[in-house]
Amino acid sequence: MVSQPSPSQRPRPSLVIIGGGATGFGVARDAAQRGFAVTLIERGELGQGTSGHFHGLLHSGARYAVADPGTAAACYRENQVVRRIAPSAVRDTGGLFVAFDDAELAHAEVIRQACAAAGIPTTDVPVEEVRAAEPHLNPAVTGAFAVPDGYVDGHALIELNERAALTADVPATVLPHHTVTGFRREGGAVTAVEVRDVLSGRDLVVPCDHVVNAAGVWVPEIARLAGAHVDMVYDQGTMVTFEDTFSTAVLNRSRPEGDGDLLVPDGAHSVMGTTSRVVAAPDDARPSDEEVALLVDEGAVLVPALASAPVHHAYAGVRPLAGGAPGGPATRQLSRGFTVIDHTDDGVPNVISLTGGKVTLYRLMAESAVDLLCRRAGIDAPCRTADTVMEAAAHGA
Ligand SMILES: Cc1cc2nc3c(=O)[nH]c(=O)nc-3n(C[C@H](O)[C@H](O)[C@H](O)COP(=O)(O)OP(=O)(O)OC[C@H]3O[C@@H](n4cnc5c(N)ncnc54)[C@H](O)[C@@H]3O)c2cc1C
Repeated sequence: MVSQPSPSQRPRPSLVIIGGGATGFGVARDAAQRGFAVTLIERGELGQGTSGHFHGLLHSGARYAVADPGTAAACYRENQVVRRIAPSAVRDTGGLFVAFDDAELAHAEVIRQACAAAGIPTTDVPVEEVRAAEPHLNPAVTGAFAVPDGYVDGHALIELNERAALTADVPATVLPHHTVTGFRREGGAVTAVEVRDVLSGRDLVVPCDHVVNAAGVWVPEIARLAGAHVDMVYDQGTMVTFEDTFSTAVLNRSRPEGDGDLLVPDGAHSVMGTTSRVVAAPDDARPSDEEVALLVDEGAVLVPALASAPVHHAYAGVRPLAGGAPGGPATRQLSRGFTVIDHTDDGVPNVISLTGGKVTLYRLMAESAVDLLCRRAGIDAPCRTADTVMEAAAHGA
């Protein structure tokens, strides 16, 4: 009788992850802990993509409760998980929905009912208390309720996940400044990823059993290189950062999601956003003067002092909204949920793409992808990423 190797004796399946944002590092941490030999490839600095150009809101889910209750409920659950596992990357600012007229008061009630249905806790806050707690808030406020929003530092979150992946039993390999240029395939399956070191110009080939395409808004480009296909809408959002903080809590307008309805205190600045306009390609995103002017005007409705506060800088990110193409449904109506795409139907059976989502949902996206990888690789290891706290490196480490 031929004896089978025990799970610990089997060679570890090799996994290449493309993209060094929150999603890619979430997958790296989870897959390394579950027994994959991980190589993560990022074409620039870690976090240089959307994970370094977002609003910083650790969503309570309340903003999506009316339009997308499933994503809202997932955001609330993951909000609680991310606070627990990445405390050094999160600030517990809390969030407020504020109303300035009867229409917003009526919509606040709609949001609260939707939050209740999605399991998101809300607390009524008397107007006098809000004015006392938030002295810069427009005194015309007529109603407010609190939600468990927070601030999450995207770079700090990436560093924590990177550290966990690098200190797994089989440490992950991380290759920043390496761009994916092509794929080698046999019988459809990818056998290796072709990579260029953008600093030295040197080409290298990374053999692999599995690939996760976590390239954010660049997912369609990577999928195309691998012989697969992904539809995506490129939805630019601009944010304006003001010097100084003007609120302790995240401030949300009580109206249907739209331009300029969110102010996030990041600890040193106030970040006002955002906008939504389709761009042709992910690298086209640039903040326009009109967007900046709109955000300053809308910011001044929330906090009148923003009308004359110095703007620190403006930046734009691109939402990797899946499930449509330009000309499809309005981008505000597209889901902020995520999709794990199995490219078997494209004839590429060992490549998975991850699209959509939020930084708030990064861990759940990773868990879904690694569950699929484990089924394919015959690995029977549970996901532990929601339970283990990630320690920040000692200063200077
Ligand atoms: C305006 C805006 C505001 C947002 N606000 C919030 C918010 O407040 N809260 C929240 O939870 N979410 C927010 N989001 C959503 C969130 O930022 C994104 O869902 C998330 O950052 C996507 O992360 P990612 O790792 O999938 O992609 P990215 O962070 O973009 O990472 C993908 C990486 O792939 C790399 N890459 C691309 N091509 C190649 C290649 N050929 N070879 C190697 N590497 C490659 C890129 O350089 C990039 O670093 C916001 C998004 C936008 C646009």
